[in-house]
Amino acid sequence: MDKKIAIAIDGFSSCGKSTMAKNLARRLSYIYIDTGAMYRAMTLYALRNRLLQDGNLDQAALKSRLERIDISFCRNADGVSEICLDGENVESLIRGMSVSNAVSIVAQEASVREKMVLLQRQIAAGKGTVMDGRDIGTVVLPDAELKIFVTARADVRAQRRYNELKAKGQEASFQEILNNIEMRDRMDLNRAVSPLRQAPDALVLDNSDMTLEQQDAWLNQKVEEVLHGHC
Ligand code: C5P
Repeated sequence: MDKKIAIAIDGFSSCGKSTMAKNLARRLSYIYIDTGAMYRAMTLYALRNRLLQDGNLDQAALKSRLERIDISFCRNADGVSEICLDGENVESLIRGMSVSNAVSIVAQEASVREKMVLLQRQIAAGKGTVMDGRDIGTVVLPDAELKIFVTARADVRAQRRYNELKAKGQEASFQEILNNIEMRDRMDLNRAVSPLRQAPDALVLDNSDMTLEQQDAWLNQKVEEVLHGHC
C-alpha cells in the first residue's frame, strides 16, 4: 500500500488550486482542506457581526470572540465536505464579492491566522492530506512531502473566475474581478504575517497556457515521483 503523504498547494488567487486539490484528494482518497474557505468563513462572521465595515476591521472585538467562533468542515447532502460557521453550512455564501473583497483584511490578522493554522494542522494530523492556501508549504505543513506553487497571469485568472460566476448565473464584471484579484495578490504578498511565498522546495506550476488535462498529467507525475520514487 502507498504511504500517506501531505501535499501542500499554494499560490495566487483564482489559479484553480481548489479544483486541482479537490480532484487530487479524490483520486488518492485523501482528505482535502480548503484553507481559503476557512478565512472566508471568518470574514463572513466579521461582516455579519459588523466587525468589518468600510474596510475597517475591529481587531480587538474579533480577537476577543475568536475562541467562540466555530469553523469546521461538514458534509453536504452529497457527502462533499463544505465549510461551516457555527454549525451553519456557508459554502455558497462565502464565494460572493462581498466576502472576496474583505477576506484579505481579515486574513492579515495574526490572531486569526494563529487559530486557523492550529485548526488546519489538527485536521490534517496523521492523514493523507491535500491542503491548499497561501502559507501551507511555508508555515502550516513545512514538512509536506510534496509542495506545489501555482501561478498564472492575472488576466487569465480573472477570465476563469468570470466564466465560473457566469456559469453559476451570478452577476459579474470582468474588471471588478480583475481588480479584486490584483488587490488580493498585493495584500497576500505584502502582509506582515505569513505572506504568500513560494517555499524553497516547492515546484512551480504556471498554468496560464495549460489545459486541465495537461495540468492533471503534470500533477499526477509529480505525485507518482514522490510516492514511488521515480525520477
Ligand atoms: O483561496 P481563496 O482565494 O479562497 O482564499 C481567500 C483569501 O484568504 C486569500 O486571498 C487570502 O487573503 C486568504 N488566505 C490566506 N491564507 C491561506 C488561504 C487563504 O491568507 N492559507
